[in-house]
Amino acid sequence: MSGYILERERKVEIVASCDVLVAGGGIAGIAAAIAAARGGKKVTLIEREYALGGMATLGLVTIYLPLCDGQGNQVIFGLGEELLRLSIEHGAEANYPKAWLEGGSSEDRARERFITQFNPHMFALRVEKLLLELGVTILYGTLACDVAKEGDTITAVITQNKSGRSAIGVRSVIDCTGDADICALAGAATALHEGGNGLASWYYYYAGGKVSLKMFGLADIAPGQAPPPGSVPEGDPYAAVKVGSLDKMRFTGVDGPELSRAVTAAHGKMYEDILRFRESDESYVPVTISTIPLVRMSRRLAGAYTLDDAGDGKRMEDSIGMTGDWRKRGPVYEIPFGTLYSREIRNLLAAGRDISVTDPMWDITRVIPPCAVTGEAAGTAASLGDDFAKLDVRALQDRLTSNNVKLHVT
Ligand SMILES: Cc1cc2nc3c(=O)[nH]c(=O)nc-3n(C[C@H](O)[C@H](O)[C@H](O)COP(=O)(O)OP(=O)(O)OC[C@H]3O[C@@H](n4cnc5c(N)ncnc54)[C@H](O)[C@@H]3O)c2cc1C
Repeated sequence: MSGYILERERKVEIVASCDVLVAGGGIAGIAAAIAAARGGKKVTLIEREYALGGMATLGLVTIYLPLCDGQGNQVIFGLGEELLRLSIEHGAEANYPKAWLEGGSSEDRARERFITQFNPHMFALRVEKLLLELGVTILYGTLACDVAKEGDTITAVITQNKSGRSAIGVRSVIDCTGDADICALAGAATALHEGGNGLASWYYYYAGGKVSLKMFGLADIAPGQAPPPGSVPEGDPYAAVKVGSLDKMRFTGVDGPELSRAVTAAHGKMYEDILRFRESDESYVPVTISTIPLVRMSRRLAGAYTLDDAGDGKRMEDSIGMTGDWRKRGPVYEIPFGTLYSREIRNLLAAGRDISVTDPMWDITRVIPPCAVTGEAAGTAASLGDDFAKLDVRALQDRLTSNNVKLHVT
């Protein structure tokens, strides 16, 4: 069969309503929901999987990258730091940041970055408990698949889950889907990452009496690119499989059949990898494998302002927080509120991987700590209003500062 079919017209029941709907329960969505709930709003978080954390937990990307600039100065505070502490509340898997959590000297802090490795399952359970305590309604197994609009305002998000299709009435929406799904559905301007994504498929394995993380497809090295500095681990017996693209295949992250091909190709490579190590060590078995696609950069909001990596150290008057560059020591970027809101849709914000940045900057803002920074800012903004182009940015900054966020380099 080919051609097309017309879907039947149907009434979609408005089953609930909330002040702030957060779409996507990754790090950005968790931070957004916490901030909006603490700001006194009725928050619903919808997540297509059945656990929180997105790539950081279900994707097993368990390295909480640095909160510091690599020169001994902490640049990410607020929820970025709170979530790091929560992620290792019951112990770090590796790299406990002693110099930062136990009053190290400035020399220690210049040497050791404020980074840690957490257990993904403990973290997912712990943040779920926190969100429930804050009164956030979590709807798992629920895909945001359309929006209803009046003019430039989203009035409801249409969802699909085991109950079928239903609508949730909203005052504002924070898109934390990682792929700017809501932005695209609502007709906000969006952009795709030009380079696409290489395959990755992280997994935990047991061998020789211990469980370890295999960063399979650690670095995305596009054709013609040199490996990023530090991406080749020294003296590691598994280095050869930790580094580089697993295959020549590149994928956009926003095409259904292509995503399935990417995941099955990555699974195939992972299976080969496991068998290869089992040849010399039959105790080698996978313990858990990533259960969502590992996508670095796919689709984002093309918002009111687009931040570029040339802005290192530049003062942004509407800054909502800062980030360092996980790849190198030194650079610090102030992230403007303009990267979070759309020119076209008045009550929509983006956070995490979805914010408005150029392709080179995207590689910096897509990782866990800046996703928490932009999630916190979006949730806080949504607790102050729902017409984001007209929001009182000074009031937002005051609220963020009172929650311990640092906005400017100096
Ligand atoms: C191979 C790889 C290695 C990485 N390594 C690191 C690392 O070592 N350290 C680090 O800090 N970062 C790392 N990152 C980046 C980082 O993990 C993620 O970019 C970050 O966690 C993204 O958070 P997020 O909340 O923006 O998005 P995501 O984690 O992608 O969360 C989005 C959530 O939204 C849900 N969702 C999507 N669409 C819908 C929809 N339509 N309706 C409902 N729910 C939806 C998803 O299920 C998901 O839970 C890595 C990424 C990759 C791909």
